[in-house]
Amino acid sequence: MVSKPAAQKTGELVLPGERLGVIEEFVPDTGTFVKDGVIYSKLVGRALLDSATRRVSVHPVGRGVLVPEVGSTVLGQVSSVQPENASVRIFQLGDRELQGIFMGVLHISDVHLRYVDSMFEVCKAGDVIRAKVISEKNQVYHLFTKDKDLGVVYAFCSDCGAVLESKRQNMHCPRCGRIERRKTAFDYGKGLT
Ligand SMILES: [Zn+2]
Repeated sequence: MVSKPAAQKTGELVLPGERLGVIEEFVPDTGTFVKDGVIYSKLVGRALLDSATRRVSVHPVGRGVLVPEVGSTVLGQVSSVQPENASVRIFQLGDRELQGIFMGVLHISDVHLRYVDSMFEVCKAGDVIRAKVISEKNQVYHLFTKDKDLGVVYAFCSDCGAVLESKRQNMHCPRCGRIERRKTAFDYGKGLT
């Protein structure tokens, strides 16, 4: 196969395993994976190189490819938390597991009907949350958890890693007794669909 530089692949159809560039040149993003410093496509899709950020991504095309959409209910794992937002790696759409990497952002204003002081009271890295997609821009899914069926469905103790139990307003660690806070879904701890 003739390998063109990734910069020329923008908009081109690429196949799973197709080489897109190297990590010295580009930042791997949605729809890609890295092996031995080389960035490859994970999907059948269109390659996109953002020349400003050097991010290379692949966006699925065609029917039957499962992708979150505005209005979808998704499950994701919180990857990082800042005072006003949390990053979430979306892994499930409805009850179907997603192929590829889909990143979501939950902003503090979309968490709860009441005022929320800090995202650190909402979720922590490692938690699993159920959320609704309210918008999508540049492959970043903006999430919403204001409904009572939305929010954290599994949370882990910051100290010992045990699954927290939901008790009234607080989350309680059955192993070490630590008390934490979360914005939970009403069926917290009951399953992943
Ligand atoms: Zn604990």
